[in-house]
Amino acid sequence: MTETSSAWRNWAGNVVVRPARTVAPNSAEELAAAVRRAAADGLRVKAVGTGHSFTAAAATDGLLIRPERLTGVREIDRTAGTVTVAAGTPLKRLNETLSAHGLSLTNMGDITEQTVSGAISTGTHGTGRDSASIAAQIRGLELVTADGSVLACSEKENPEVFAAARVGLGALGVITAVTFAVEPEFWLTAREEPMPFDRVTAEFDQLAAENEHFEFYWFPHTGNCNTKRNNRSPGPAAPPSPLSAWIEDELLSNTLFRALCALGRTAPATIPPVAKISSRALSARTYTDIPYKVFTSPRRVRFLEMEYALPREAAVAALRELRAMIERSRLRISFPVEVRTAPADDIPLSTAAGRDTAYLAMHQYRGTSHHAYFSAAEQIMTAHGGRPHWGKLHSRDAGYLAGVYPRFDEFRALRDRLDPQRLFGNDYLRRVLGA
Ligand SMILES: Cc1cc2nc3c(=O)[nH]c(=O)nc-3n(C[C@H](O)[C@H](O)[C@H](O)COP(=O)(O)OP(=O)(O)OC[C@H]3O[C@@H](n4cnc5c(N)ncnc54)[C@H](O)[C@@H]3O)c2cc1C
Repeated sequence: MTETSSAWRNWAGNVVVRPARTVAPNSAEELAAAVRRAAADGLRVKAVGTGHSFTAAAATDGLLIRPERLTGVREIDRTAGTVTVAAGTPLKRLNETLSAHGLSLTNMGDITEQTVSGAISTGTHGTGRDSASIAAQIRGLELVTADGSVLACSEKENPEVFAAARVGLGALGVITAVTFAVEPEFWLTAREEPMPFDRVTAEFDQLAAENEHFEFYWFPHTGNCNTKRNNRSPGPAAPPSPLSAWIEDELLSNTLFRALCALGRTAPATIPPVAKISSRALSARTYTDIPYKVFTSPRRVRFLEMEYALPREAAVAALRELRAMIERSRLRISFPVEVRTAPADDIPLSTAAGRDTAYLAMHQYRGTSHHAYFSAAEQIMTAHGGRPHWGKLHSRDAGYLAGVYPRFDEFRALRDRLDPQRLFGNDYLRRVLGA
């Protein structure tokens, strides 16, 4: 185990901390020993993933536990249909390893840079009619708790810890391994298609019901959306040609997009006319590939993000209100608003806990003030009973969150039992959990 002391910053660069001590353990035992030593020295403890959260969820002034040595596959159990990996394994490596064994997760988010433990801890999700977040695909967890012991949990072992720790916000302990349910690798056919805002919003329920994975992006200052429908298919693979992939995924979605965002930051008046042109640049295309190559894509332009989970039936009204708010205001927004769905799940602090959900995600280019946009958007989202993504910017506190999570007190009671001294506490958790 290496031990250092240097500053840590998140991907977006809006959270910078200087922990008293930083370690990168090789094993659950080493990690547990580091936790015990920190407790004895009076330091609080936080594990970080790859810092892809925009909130200070992973911030600490005490012991910071880095993920990079706690990686790799521990076990593939084909009979049970599960794969166990060390907690610091990046999703990218998990996906590639699963694919090499002819296996796949059922659903995932937009990118694959995060660690498995970081991704599940804040409820990272993609879009799905029947399949839910990454945390909902877990069958077991191994956790180092505040007393320094290593606790195995699943539906059979320590089931109440398992239920809550799947989206645990880093508040219940440090995860050292995760067991995922996996399935034989399948083909997904993606259909990307521009569509007018009025049509997407009018047909949203139907599009979400008819497709296994439906999402769309609305381009502010325009009536244009880009839709994406992913459905299982018999194959074979028919990926986009290298030239088309480069044009759509690198040139238009990253290189040119970054240049236009930078232009908009310097000259905000250019944003609406540029949006009208750039929102039409992406053309319709259909392709078929293995799941992670269809679900995920590179995101190289740095931004800040807020995302709210709404009751599914409120999504269209909220999006229309967001559009009206932007049109009434002097705001100039160069990033699209992303809309996704998830079925209700049974994880106490999952943003989709107990209700069919639609997600609305607002982004702002890094270096552009996001406060006015996010706070006006947040008023709309909270008026609809929205739940903020735990890893994305928001201003909610425990008083609000207790009202939108029916099992909030169940989570807090478990935390009181597992971590009465708040060894795993930080300022973010004090705000969102209330102590
Ligand atoms: C470009 C980009 C794209 C994104 N796309 C999506 C998306 O499609 N869908 C979505 O829902 N979100 C998305 N996110 C948000 C991101 O998935 C979450 O914020 C996620 O939590 C980040 O994982 P991480 O590994 O970087 O963890 P970090 O951000 O480093 O940490 C997140 C939390 O997990 C805790 N944690 C980390 N490791 C452990 C551990 N071993 N034990 C206990 N707690 C731990 C940390 O303490 C912290 O509370 C995106 C973010 C970015 C920057």
